[in-house]
Amino acid sequence: MNIASVIVDVPAKQTDREFDYKIPEKWVSVIKPGMRVIVPFGPRKVQGFVSHLKEESEHSRLKYLEEPMDLEPVLNPELLKLGDWLTEETLCYKISAFQVMIPAALKAKYEKYIKVSDDVQEEALSGEIGDLFKGRDRIDWKTALNSGSPSKIQNEIMKGNLEVVYQVKNKLNKKRIKYVERSISLEEIEKYAAALPQNASKQKAACDFFISHSGEITLRELINQTGTTASSVKSLVEKKVLREYEKEIYRDPFENRVFTQTKPFVLTAEQEEALRPINDSINTGSDGTFLLYGITGSGKTEIYLQAIDNVIKHGKEAIMLVPEISLTPQMVQRFKGRFGNKVAVMHSGLSVGEKYDEWRKIQRKEVKVVVGARSAIFAPFENLGIIIIDEEHETSYKQEENPRYHARDVAVKRGQYHGCPVVLGSATPSLETFARAQKNVYTLLTLRNRLNSSILPKVDIVDMREELRGGNRSMFSKMLFEKLTERLEKKEQTVLFLNRRGHSSFVMCRDCGNVMNCPHCDISLTYHRSSHQLKCHYCGFEVPMPSHCPECQSDYIRFFGTGTQKVEEELGKILPQARVIRMDVDTTGKKGSHEKLLTAFQEGQADILLGTQMIAKGLDFPNITLVGVLTADTMLHLPDFRASEKTFQLLTQVSGRAGRHKLPGEVVIQTYTPEHYSIELSGQQDYDTFYAQEMRLRKFNKYPPFYFLALVTVSHEDLMKTVSVTEKITKYLSSGLSPESVVLGPAASPISRVNDRYRYQCLIKYKREPELKRMLKRIVEHYQKESNQNGLQISVDLNPHMLM
Ligand code: ADP
Ligand code: ZN
Ligand code: ZN
Repeated sequence: MNIASVIVDVPAKQTDREFDYKIPEKWVSVIKPGMRVIVPFGPRKVQGFVSHLKEESEHSRLKYLEEPMDLEPVLNPELLKLGDWLTEETLCYKISAFQVMIPAALKAKYEKYIKVSDDVQEEALSGEIGDLFKGRDRIDWKTALNSGSPSKIQNEIMKGNLEVVYQVKNKLNKKRIKYVERSISLEEIEKYAAALPQNASKQKAACDFFISHSGEITLRELINQTGTTASSVKSLVEKKVLREYEKEIYRDPFENRVFTQTKPFVLTAEQEEALRPINDSINTGSDGTFLLYGITGSGKTEIYLQAIDNVIKHGKEAIMLVPEISLTPQMVQRFKGRFGNKVAVMHSGLSVGEKYDEWRKIQRKEVKVVVGARSAIFAPFENLGIIIIDEEHETSYKQEENPRYHARDVAVKRGQYHGCPVVLGSATPSLETFARAQKNVYTLLTLRNRLNSSILPKVDIVDMREELRGGNRSMFSKMLFEKLTERLEKKEQTVLFLNRRGHSSFVMCRDCGNVMNCPHCDISLTYHRSSHQLKCHYCGFEVPMPSHCPECQSDYIRFFGTGTQKVEEELGKILPQARVIRMDVDTTGKKGSHEKLLTAFQEGQADILLGTQMIAKGLDFPNITLVGVLTADTMLHLPDFRASEKTFQLLTQVSGRAGRHKLPGEVVIQTYTPEHYSIELSGQQDYDTFYAQEMRLRKFNKYPPFYFLALVTVSHEDLMKTVSVTEKITKYLSSGLSPESVVLGPAASPISRVNDRYRYQCLIKYKREPELKRMLKRIVEHYQKESNQNGLQISVDLNPHMLM
């Protein structure tokens, strides 16, 4: 096979196909599908992915490809196929589909070299390779390619004797410190420790540590925690009981710690019943999607852990997705505690290089489990035994840029390929998912009871209009204030939740009603107290807070709405003795600060945790007995047909933070629309009724899950141009689609201008339109030329989750 079909890294319609290249003699048998290569393309040299190899090409006069960029494929055959599917499903370019599946480090600027693997002796390398590495443990990439024996290098890489290191530039000077881990099995070290002589107490202390903990620890920490000594550790290393190695200090807050080994719980009858069908599916190697529907604290995570355990026993691998926002140290701890260093973690807090390291652990089969946010769905495991998506209703599972995929769909696709179960877990499933479970497309598994015999918290809904009528102008209702005071006296903790999405602290003139808007985007500016600035959250525009209204010169210009800073100040006035920790984008911007604040709260250094969305999930502290929601309805009024669903889900989540352990919990929800069903029913934690009611509305209004949606958004600097293009698109679609479908537009997008570009949209509601994708593709292709010339942008979102 001496011809490579290559998808080049030039994202455009004309280049969205395979180009054939001849493989130079010396690279034949080295180049494999899934590797990246450098190829001549017009006058340039570009990168590309080899999609497959062939003997002959229908094209004549092929050029030679230049050289490989990898010696190991970065995409395996399954992921190459998945790329084809992603392209079809999301209408993206093939190259975008491939790029989204590989770690960012491979797209960044890096230096590449080949080194002898850590646990390999240089002497193990023989012949040409031995000569090449004589006296050095690494050679640079060019030297390797020009060495005359690249295929031999490749063989050694496949065997694990050599490895390619992609060193991302600008992080070259990392500190290295010593780590220690167990190098024999748990049973062996137990035996070893028992046989140690009386006077070897320092060695025994070190052994005992590794009997009760899994994973690695820095040498310094080990000495601190156990009272062992460096020389005791050294002799254990010499006896090959422990292993010592140097490692870069991770800036990652999760990595640099030890996890207490946990054992599986004896499951409750309900948990047993839910786990059994999942295990059946694992044991028989059959695919299928399960919805694990269980209220918060009903033991879903324990089921995930035991299912994964079963998967590992079958020698297979597991993908565990959690929303970025709940990828907390607590969450990671539960997985590392059970599976030790068989777990890779992928979250946005890692640097590009660190993410790559985690990805490589998967690729090199050093781990069995990945816990990660959305993109971990592309983990290059080759023997998947289960895919789990926790909090499956979370919108963060949908990527909002190309390729606009939903991790749930990718999971189902990969599950079919591997013949393994997909488990979707939630206390408040998305309507789409629950509807599929109702129709037996998914298998419904239900957990009705909370563990720890804790009961669901008591929820009070307070009508803030009544408060105002009663003369209370504060942002705290009488009831919430009283309950807060009570907690302070009892030394119990409170979580105060401020739902800011949708309406933040905008600035308005109280004389003329003028609202300060961004001059470039169609959206109000947000007031930032610390800098006394007004900021646009879409384009970053900033101005100082004006002292007079620009319209009428009145100086009665004030900010409205409530930010966390403002709540904090008010708390300081009404409850000066309360210690408050505030968590929002401003206080958690620095790496690790999120964890620090949570730890401080857990250790009782504060009475009140005040925050936004980011505190809604994953918090599980025994001393929290009160949850207050300051304004429940801010999200209800967003121009989004999922507004009620999101409000219900969020309020239910937040309420679940209270009374998860021995102490009973209480929840106070403050709202201006207490009669709205999503608020009322979240107070009762009644998903089933909410589902029934919301489904009626969806059916009536022709929304998912009864109809599918597709959204076309057009944007351009010129308003007329934007409108006329949207109009043409709308006409084209209306005329081509069946009468059963609904084509809405042209309409201004809810955010009708961003960064000086106008935005218009066309929304399609349909049940069955086999031609739709082709038509949408044709639209994008038709306008492609214009988009290169005058910046017209057309984006297509099949299954949109943001209608803004
Ligand atoms: P969920 O994921 O549904 O919110 P968790 O799995 O976190 O629920 O379980 C809630 C709590 O109950 C956790 O503290 C967990 O350790 C504990 N737990 C789970 N299963 C069991 C069990 N079978 N026996 C005792 N405790 C359990
Ligand atoms: Zn004014
Ligand atoms: Zn702006």
